[in-house]
Amino acid sequence: MKSSPPCLHDCVWSTKDCLHNMLDNAGVPRDAKWRSLIVYLRGIADLPHLTDHQKTHAQRLFTQALAQKDFSEARFAQILEEYHASITESYRKTIDELVREASAVVKGFQDMLTSRYGDLEQLEETTVQTVGEIQDGPAVAHQLRQAFGKLKNAMESDLRSLEDMAHRDGLTGLFNRRSFDRFMSESVIRWQEEQQPLTLALFDIDHFKVFNDKYGHRVGDQVLTVVAGHIQHALQVVDQRENRVIGARYGGEEFAVVISGPAAVRCTKLVEGIRESIHSYSFLVRDTNGNIMERGLRVSVSCGIASMWPGWPGSHAENLIESADKALYFAKGDGRDRSAIFDPTGDQPYRTISEGK
Ligand code: GH3
Ligand code: MG
Ligand code: MG
Repeated sequence: MKSSPPCLHDCVWSTKDCLHNMLDNAGVPRDAKWRSLIVYLRGIADLPHLTDHQKTHAQRLFTQALAQKDFSEARFAQILEEYHASITESYRKTIDELVREASAVVKGFQDMLTSRYGDLEQLEETTVQTVGEIQDGPAVAHQLRQAFGKLKNAMESDLRSLEDMAHRDGLTGLFNRRSFDRFMSESVIRWQEEQQPLTLALFDIDHFKVFNDKYGHRVGDQVLTVVAGHIQHALQVVDQRENRVIGARYGGEEFAVVISGPAAVRCTKLVEGIRESIHSYSFLVRDTNGNIMERGLRVSVSCGIASMWPGWPGSHAENLIESADKALYFAKGDGRDRSAIFDPTGDQPYRTISEGK
């Protein structure tokens, strides 16, 4: 049998052979997926659009992969995820800043409108009082009251719209990520004080990229709205008093449900109800003129659930989000269209609690 050729940089073999030998020696499987990833990470320093920090991070992933020699599916996905997170970090920061700025502007409008509302109330009192003192005044004053009342109602409605703009996602009408973050922090504080359960469920639409590629973003947006509608509808049965439940758009095609307090124990059932209702929903796709393009389309979601109970080892919202995220990842890996739960007391930390049906 022919022995492996020597691999020296000045060797007579082509660069490709040389690289393959190097990867063989490093124990990288002869699998196109792993080879491509390693070669990509190795050559990252030549990519002009990446920052030094991103290059260093990729280089570290490269060295770790070779050192650990764990070439499993899970490790592959983890490397991709870490790489993706480092590449998108700067964009996420920019988006966060933009959202903060936009929220500050909305808050400015709200303050302005509230102050104008006060001016209007004052004007109403002065006008009605002055008119009331003249002949036929009371009748005119009554009409004026009604006119002012209408104007005030309109301003109150504007204020409510501004409030929604600051806290709701424009496309789906669910709470936005900012509201979610705030709700989570408040819920964790409450959890520490009251030691009542707190449950987070993260939903992610399955193969949504393929769906978008096939039907376009406009139809994709319609799907997002319908999925959000299923979540919104399901949450109506939960006791909304005391502000203990929230349905939010967590990001792109990801949604979150958070329930704190006694109702949190029913979260798993609720989540399964949402997943099943989306699974059974038959989508109708219309073109821009409203004509039906396709009927009977199905979409599924995967879900990861994690709960903080009294005695939970973590104490931050991040711990809960990470656990739910890993459970979601587990549900994806297990075949999608199902829910998985983080259970630190079981043999396995993550387990599927349902399968697409
Ligand atoms: P998986 O089952 O693993 O979740 O696969 P996926 O294709 O859903 O996941 P991936 O992260 O590869 O793609 C997410 C897609 O979601 C890509 C992006 O185009 C789409 N998406 C994110 N936000 C929006 C949006 O606001 N509107 C539309 N139409 N699509 C969106
Ligand atoms: Mg996703
Ligand atoms: Mg998805």
